[in-house]
Amino acid sequence: MPPVTERADIVVIGAGVIGLACARELLRAGREVLVLEAKQICAGASWGNCGLVTPSHSLPLTRPKMMRQVLRLLLREDAPVRVKPRLEPSFLAWGLRFAARCSQAGMLESMRGRGALLERSRGLFDEWMADGLDCEWEAKGVLEVFATEATRHHSEGVADLLSDHGVESEVVTAEELTRREPALRDGLIGGRLFPRDAQLRPDRLVHELARQVRAAGGEIREGCAVEALGKGELRVAAGTIEARTTVVAVGAIAPKLLRGVRLKAPIQPGKGYSITMGRPDPCPNVPLLLAEANMAVTPWPSGLRLGGTMELAGYDETLNRARVEALRIGANRFLRSIEGADPVEWWGWRPMTPDELPIIDQPRPGLVLAIGHGMMGVSMAPATAELVVSLVTGSEQTVDAQPYRLSRF
Ligand SMILES: Cc1cc2nc3c(=O)[nH]c(=O)nc-3n(C[C@H](O)[C@H](O)[C@H](O)COP(=O)(O)OP(=O)(O)OC[C@H]3O[C@@H](n4cnc5c(N)ncnc54)[C@H](O)[C@@H]3O)c2cc1C
Repeated sequence: MPPVTERADIVVIGAGVIGLACARELLRAGREVLVLEAKQICAGASWGNCGLVTPSHSLPLTRPKMMRQVLRLLLREDAPVRVKPRLEPSFLAWGLRFAARCSQAGMLESMRGRGALLERSRGLFDEWMADGLDCEWEAKGVLEVFATEATRHHSEGVADLLSDHGVESEVVTAEELTRREPALRDGLIGGRLFPRDAQLRPDRLVHELARQVRAAGGEIREGCAVEALGKGELRVAAGTIEARTTVVAVGAIAPKLLRGVRLKAPIQPGKGYSITMGRPDPCPNVPLLLAEANMAVTPWPSGLRLGGTMELAGYDETLNRARVEALRIGANRFLRSIEGADPVEWWGWRPMTPDELPIIDQPRPGLVLAIGHGMMGVSMAPATAELVVSLVTGSEQTVDAQPYRLSRF
C-alpha cells in the first residue's frame, strides 16, 4: 500500500443500514467514526427493500425438503426462487453448504441464531424510535394472507414451530380479513397476523441514521470506495488510511473486498426486486405477506411497495423484466388495486450466507465483519450494531456471538 495519508480510530466501510447502525452505536460508545461509502448513502440493498421488522421470520430457507423445491423451480424465469446454474467454484461451494444445511437440525440451529438477533433487535427498535428516528415506523403487525387451503394448512405447521420458539401469531378468518383489509380481493380464505412485527420506510431509516451519525460527530464520506484492505490500513483513491479498527459492512460485495486480507466469506448475492408507488386506492392498512405469490406488500403514509423474489444469478446488474412483472401479477391476484402513482422499479442484492445467519465477528485484531444479513438486514440491524460494539470495546454481549462467527464455515 502507498504511504499512510490519514489516521482514524474506527473506519466503517459501507453506508447501508448495517454500516450506519454500527457507526451510530460506536459513536454512542464514545468512539470516533469515519464511514466510507463507494457511492452514496443507502446505495445498496438497504434502499428498496420491504422495510419489514419481523421477529416472526426466524425460520430460515434452509429447511428439510427445500432442495427438492428449489430443483423443481430451477430456471423458471418467474419462479419465486430462481437459480442460474454456474460452474463458479464459490457458487458451487455455497450451494453445497446450503444443501447440507437443509435438515431438521440445521434449520433449528439457524432458527435459534436468527431468533436471538431478531428478538433483541425488535426490542431495540422501540428504543431507537423513541430517540427520534423519523422513518414512518408503525408497529401494527404483519398479516400473512392465503388464497388456497394447501398454503393455509402448511402455515399452521410453521406457526406451531414458531410458537415453540416464542413467536406468537393469531388466526384471521376470511370474514375478518374482508373487514380488516378492504384492499384485498374477495375469495381469499384467511390469514395469520404476527402482532409483534413492525414496518418502516428503509431509505428514510438509513438517512435518519446518517443524520444521527453526523450529529454525534461522525464523518460520512460518499463517493469514496475502499479499493483494498490491508493489515490495519485500507486504500482509497486519495491515499492510505490507517485505522485502529475497520468494520466491514459492504453487504453482498464482501467476498471481493475480503480477498485482499485472505479471508473467505461464503456470501452470494440474492437478487430481489421491488416496485414503489404512491398509495393506490384502496390501500392496505398493514403490511401483507401474499403467501402463494411469495411476496410482501408494505403500505406507508408516503406510498406502497411490492417486493420479493430471490434470484441467485451472481453479480448480474440487470433488471430481469419477467421477475418485476411476477411481482405485479402476484399482487394483482390479491389486491383490488396496484395503480399507485409514479411506480419505481428496483433491484438489490441480499447478502446471502448458506446457513442464513449473518457473519458478525472479529476474525483478526482490528478487523470486524458485519455482513451476510440476507433477507433480514433491516430487522437485525440494531442487535448487529450492539454486537459490533461489544466486539470492538470488549463490553458485555447481550446476544451470544458464537453462531455468527466466520470460522463456522
Ligand atoms: C426485495 C428485498 C426485500 C427485502 N425486504 C426486507 C425486509 O422487509 N426486512 C428486512 O429486514 N430485510 C429485507 N431485505 C434485506 C435487506 O435489504 C438487506 O439485508 C440489507 O439491506 C443489507 O444491508 P447492508 O448494509 O449489509 O448492505 P447494503 O445495503 O447493500 O449496503 C452496503 C453498502 O456498502 C457500499 N460498498 C460496497 N462496496 C464498498 C467499498 N468497496 N467501499 C465503500 N463502500 C462500499 C455499497 O455501495 C452499499 O451502500 C430485503 C432485500 C430485498 C432485496
